This record gives sequence, C-alpha cells and structure tokens, in this order.
Amino acid sequence: MIYVEVAVAAPVRSTYTYRLPLGLRSDDAGSDEGLIGRRVLVPFGNAVVTGYLIALERQKPPAELQYKEIADLLDDSPLFPADAVPLFRWVADYYHHPLGLVIKTALPGGLNTTAERQLCLTENIGRQAVAAVCVDYARYDWLLQLLENGRLPAALSKKVLNDRHHRAVVARLSHEKVLRIERRAAQDGVRNKYERCYRISAALRQSLATVEVTADAEAGQLADCLAVIGGRQPGKAERTTVATLWRLSRENGTSDVPRRELLAAYPYASRIVAGLAAAGAIEVVDRRVYRSPFGDLLPYYPPVAQLSQEQQKAIEAIGHCLDERRFHTFLLHGVTGSGKTEVYLAAARKTLEAGRTVLVLVPEIALATQIEAHFVSRFGTLVALLHSALTPGERFDEWSRVLSGEARLVIGARSAVFAPLTDLGLVVVDEEHDGAFKQQDGLRYQARDAAIVRASQHGATVILGSATPSVTSFFHGRSGKYSLLTLSRRIGGKQLPGVEVVDVRGRVGSEGTSLFHDRLKAALQETFSQGQQSIVLINRRGFSPSVICLSCGAMVECRSCKVTMNLHKQTQRMLCHYCGYQLPSSSSCRSCGSTQLQPVGVGIERVVEALAELLPQARIARLDSDIAVDRRAFLALLQAASKKELDVLVGTQILAKGLHFPGVTLVGIVLADTGLAFPDFRAAEKTYQLIAQVTGRAGRGESHGRVIIQTMQPDHYAIQYAAQHRYQELAEREVMIRQGAGFPPFSRLIFIVVEDRDESLVRRRATEIAQEARTWVRERSASGVLSIMGPAPAPLERLRDRHRWQIMLKGTAVAALHDLADHVSRTFQRSGREKIIIDVDPENM
Ligand code: ADP
Ligand code: ZN
Ligand code: ZN
Repeated sequence: MIYVEVAVAAPVRSTYTYRLPLGLRSDDAGSDEGLIGRRVLVPFGNAVVTGYLIALERQKPPAELQYKEIADLLDDSPLFPADAVPLFRWVADYYHHPLGLVIKTALPGGLNTTAERQLCLTENIGRQAVAAVCVDYARYDWLLQLLENGRLPAALSKKVLNDRHHRAVVARLSHEKVLRIERRAAQDGVRNKYERCYRISAALRQSLATVEVTADAEAGQLADCLAVIGGRQPGKAERTTVATLWRLSRENGTSDVPRRELLAAYPYASRIVAGLAAAGAIEVVDRRVYRSPFGDLLPYYPPVAQLSQEQQKAIEAIGHCLDERRFHTFLLHGVTGSGKTEVYLAAARKTLEAGRTVLVLVPEIALATQIEAHFVSRFGTLVALLHSALTPGERFDEWSRVLSGEARLVIGARSAVFAPLTDLGLVVVDEEHDGAFKQQDGLRYQARDAAIVRASQHGATVILGSATPSVTSFFHGRSGKYSLLTLSRRIGGKQLPGVEVVDVRGRVGSEGTSLFHDRLKAALQETFSQGQQSIVLINRRGFSPSVICLSCGAMVECRSCKVTMNLHKQTQRMLCHYCGYQLPSSSSCRSCGSTQLQPVGVGIERVVEALAELLPQARIARLDSDIAVDRRAFLALLQAASKKELDVLVGTQILAKGLHFPGVTLVGIVLADTGLAFPDFRAAEKTYQLIAQVTGRAGRGESHGRVIIQTMQPDHYAIQYAAQHRYQELAEREVMIRQGAGFPPFSRLIFIVVEDRDESLVRRRATEIAQEARTWVRERSASGVLSIMGPAPAPLERLRDRHRWQIMLKGTAVAALHDLADHVSRTFQRSGREKIIIDVDPENM
C-alpha cells in the first residue's frame, strides 16, 4: 500500500492524500514513478471525481488517519511528466487557482471530455441479492451481464439509464446498494490514429537481403526466398507483392510499409497479403500515426551563411549560460529585421545537442506558423507544435510525441508553457512584450512569466526577445536582473524605414471625408504602380465599431453588455465583440424604432472598401482574427503575400507581429492613437509597440521602407518616439512615470472582480471585500507596502448580462500582497452565488 497526493479536478484549494491499493498497480510494470501524471478516479464527498496523481507520499502518514482509496487509475501511462508538477503548483499558488483545474487547463483538450457513467455491481453481491430486490431480473439482459462482469460498458450503461423502465430497476437496485453508478472520465476523447502496415518478417528479410530485387520480380531467386517461408512455390502475384514490399521498405528506410502505399504501387496485392501473413512471410501491424499540424505549405529555410557580429556575440553569451546549466534570463533587444530568430535557432541547437529540451513561446498562432518553418527546416521531426488552432487530434498527437521524448522542441502559443517536456534547457519567448501571453479568462496566467519560473525550476536559460521589450523587462535588463543583449542593426545593412506623422484631426472617418490623408493616398498609389506591396493597419474588426440612430441619436448597444455593436457588412450583421450577440444589420433602433441607422467609426472592412475604390486594379487581402482562425486559409494568404500575389494587405494588429514580407515597402496606419484613449497605465507603451512593430514590416527586402502614421495626437510622446525609432527614450520615460505613480515594475497589482446579474449584490459584495481588505492591512500595519483602491465599476461594467465591480490591490511586498489576495478569496470565494475573479498582474486595465 502506498499513499499518493491527488489534485482533484474541482474548485478546491488543497490537494488530498489517498491510498493506492496494490491491485491497481499490477498493470503498471514500471516503477512507482510512472504513477505520477496519471489520472485517477477518487471518492470525493459523495461523488467520484477525476483527479491527477501528482506525488507519492514518501512518509507513511500517521496510522490514526484513515485515507480513502483510489477507485481507479484511468491511464496506462502518465499524461504529463513529474517534471511539470512544480510548475503546476506555482501557477496554482501564484494565480490563486485550484491545482486540479490548473492541470486540467494544461492538458490537451481531447483528454478532458466529460465523464461517462457506468453501472457497477457493489462488491460481493451475487445473484441472490439481485433476486431479493428484483424477482424478475431475468427479463433484463443487462442485469445478467452485470452479474457476470461486475460492470457494464459505458455505451450499454447509457442505454439502460436512458430507458424509463430500465432506469426504474436501476433506481431500485441502487437504493438497496446492489449496484452503483460510477462516473468515469471518458477515455481519450480523441482516439489515437493508426495506420495498417505490413512488416517483412525477419526470416524473409534475411534471405531477401541477398537478392537483388529489381522491377523484374520473376527472378528465380526471389521465388526461392519465398519458398523458404511458405514451404511451397509462390505464384507470380505473390512474388510481385513481396518484391514491391521489399522495394518500398528500402525506399522508406523502415521495415513497415503502409498498406496505402503498397496498394498504390501494386493494387492486386490486397488479395495476396492475407496468405503471406498466414505463411509467416509478413506481419500485419497497426502503427501509430501522428496527425501532422505542419501542413504542406511550410517553406524551407536553409541555414544562413554567416551570422552577424551582433548575433555571434549574443549566441556566445547565451552559450556560456547553457553550458553551465544555470537559470538565467537574457533580454534580447533586437530591432525588427535584426535576425533574432537565428539567435534562437543557435541556442536551440546547442540545447538539443546537450540532450535537453526547448520551449519556444510566441504570442500569436499566426507567428507560430512562421517561426515553426524556421525550426522545422533545421530540426525536422524534433519539433512539435502546440496551440489552439490544431484539431484536437493533432494536439493530442503532438502532446504524445513530446511526452514520449520523440519531439524535444515545442513551439506554441500561451498554453504551450505547460508542454510535457522533461529536462528543460532553454526557454525562448518571442515578442515577449505582447499582451496575448496573458490569458484573460478562466486561469488568468501570464505565459511568459510562468515560462521564466519553469526555467528557474530546471536550471534552464531564458531568452526574451523583442524589438520593443515591455517596460518591466527593460527595467530588469537595466537593473541587472536580466542580461541585456542588443541587436541594433538590421541584417544586410538595411535601414529602418522613414516615418512620417500626418495630422488627421477632424478629417478621418467622419462622413464625406476620405479615410486616407492625401499623403497616404499618394504613397499607396505610387507603391502599387511600382509593383511593390503595402500594409495598411487598422486595429478594428468589422466595418464600423458602432452604429448610431439618426433620428434619436442612440447608439445600438449589445443586449447583454455595456458596449456598442460593431457593424459587419460582409455578414450583414451587427455583432458584439465581447459576447457574440448578433442582430441583422437591417434592424431598427431599439429606442425609437427608426430604421435610419448609420455606421460610425472605422473598421477593417471599411478600409478594404475604400482601398478597393482607391486602387481598383490592386489585389487586396484582409487579414484579421476572423480569418486567422482558419489555419489553411491563413497559411495560403501568407504564401500569396510572400510570392507577391497580393498588392495590399489590410490587417489588424495580428499583421503587425513579426511577419516577414520582403516585398513590403509601405506601411500605413489608419489611426495610430486609438489605444491612447484607454485608461490604462500601459497605453503609451502599447501604442509605441504597435507602431514600432508594424513599422518593422516595411523595408525588409531590397528596397527601402516607408511608413505613414495617421493620428489625431501628433505631438504625443509615444507617437513621436515611435516615429523616430527611439525605444530607449520611450522606456526610460515610462519607467519614470511609473516610479512616480508607483505602478509596475515598482509594485504589483491584483484585481478582485465581482460579477453577478444582480447589480446591488455586486456592489454590496465589492464593498465588503474592500472593507475586509482594508481591515486586514490595518491589523497587520501593512499600509506602507499595500494599498487598496475601490471598489469601483470595472471598465466593462456590464458583460454578458453580468454587472462587474472591481477592487485593486497594489503592493510593493509580493508575499504580503498574495497573502491578502488569498485571505480575500478564502473569505469570500464560496460565500455567495456571485463570481469572484482574482486577476494577478492584470494586463487589461
Ligand atoms: P527579427 O525577428 O529580428 O525581426 P528575423 O529573425 O525575422 O528578424 O530575420 C530577418 C531576416 O534576416 C530573415 O529573413 C532571416 O532569415 C534573415 N537573416 C537573419 N540572420 C541572417 C544572417 N546572419 N545572414 C543573412 N540573413 C539573415
Ligand atoms: Zn432611435
Ligand atoms: Zn455583448
């Protein structure tokens, strides 16, 4: 009997110890270590729930404590390595989230399918006991089967439970404790995929090896070989089949020839293989196939001939750290086009050669697509891709390849930080400043931060790469917590593009005016006529961000959220970008019934329309998150852009991030200051980053690039610095401002958000929480290091019919801040029906 620690997949704060009966371990040939990472079914309260086995208890617990037994082990092998457990624990603690639910979030979706029910006989119950309750049990086939096997398969159980008459019998029997209904987590929601293969037997292989098999399978020697196996003279079709198998196996360099391939080469083989198998000449095997997420559209990138001096210097510094297997973080600040990817590749190569593993995080699926091409070009099948745009099957397969050690380099978005890597040696976070690393619902973790912690747990080296590092990372680079590496020049001596700021106050977007300033218009026309490509950035999906009623002046608002509806012309709908609520675009005003509705403001569809008018001959493509969800379409678009089959790319910020289009010489930003309107202390930082990133898309090829920024705040420092590529000054200035205001990195923030349909309840609870927090601080005399702001309505004060209020906790003492958050969540989280969200290090203010 051993004792194990289990994190149940339920909203509870602690883990639990269970006994693992020896009987359950018999199927487990390996050591007890192979137990960690498996799912278990455990009795919990009155129910049986899924949990994750995360540790073996080394010490026998005190005898007086009675522990419950694990009901079942659900997996034949672990779903995550023991190596990942410290990360799960840290994430649960730091983000105040139940550990079991952290693990559930971390695992690939296919495994988390809902439980299925199974009917089981209670132990030691025989025919008599059943007869005592249910005299006519013989009328129920399933009862007989239950008596025989002790449990019914899930499918049959479901059938029984769905039938009214049968259900009555079940109720009676379970009331008498003859049987019980067990909930089992459904085994692999995603099935492994197999391919039928033929394997030439060792004996035949040996004799074939001496024969020169040519297209002419009539060769007498081949017949001899076959006679060795079958003990008789083979026919012509048999000989051809074997000859084909032998040829394919040598061509593929493996002993397994897929049935598909054999039949393609020799269709008549299908009649023959059974006989060959019966004679022992071949073996029929099912080989696991991994659905490949790398479509056939990925380009190949050969290694570069010569690294730049700056690249070499960076690689050297990182190399020392890798050699020492020491946790350390590098901030790789490289201007756009300076060749950061090569630095990642070199560090990855070194890590893989040392036998360790690599994690590469990118903020956006779109970027994963591009960077994966570089990594796959160098490291082939050692690379696995993990992100949400894969099908569940692909994701499950990639996860398995990593877990088995077959793939040792993972590229992915946010959730890839949980990849089942063992012996992590290197973590790369590309575009580390990007807000997309922070998950905004459920488990609100910051993947970059979690990745750094994971590296610290394994003595791994971290590279944070960006052309515009977050102010926080910049600060750590300056203070020496991180080592700063700089790539200050573009590869091939290319210049950063020249940037022009044009003032469009009062003229863009209002009726009767053009979306484009004359300068931008002229530049677009010129670029097109020269056969070069342009990018136009507009940070809004849809046609317009709002719609106004011309007769009463009311904005069309979402039914469930306090936001305006976006008009999407293409789908002829008005759409809420927060909850997805839709109305036909022909709807009438809810206040006055008028049908005179007018779109207000500029979205990407409107820009595409205006461009089509301006450049009727041009091939224009739209690239936003509505399109990027379709990976194939997206890859095809990227390829078309690279091949210069497109003239103008119109995109939201997704287009700004890291994509490499050598043919682009002009970038236009329709309105650069939309982000500055938000009450967010990072507004200037984010605006700078967006402009600098999209600016970086221009002039990456042979020709010089040019950027035109339209703005209503031409004098704002974020715009000015961005126009002059003065990142350092921007960062210094931001550091000063934040020091003055005591914002991160000079403090840390935690938001407590209260949500419910009932507004007065929300307000009341938020007030109580703020009061409790203030009392806590006072009692500990912690007001010097902790402060509490609010409660106040959240910026989005109604979302999906829920009212929202928030309290901000700000602290310079991290431990105390988290103690306070912990105290609040323990006191209030389960006290009422309202939802209490704890958002640590919030990024959307
Ligand atoms: P960044 O990510 O820093 O913006 P990339 O890594 O995309 O820049 O590199 C820009 C381009 O320069 C890519 O096409 C890349 O293949 C190429 N490149 C990088 N390093 C070198 C080098 N040493 N020699 C030649 N080309 C290089
Ligand atoms: Zn109206
Ligand atoms: Zn809504």
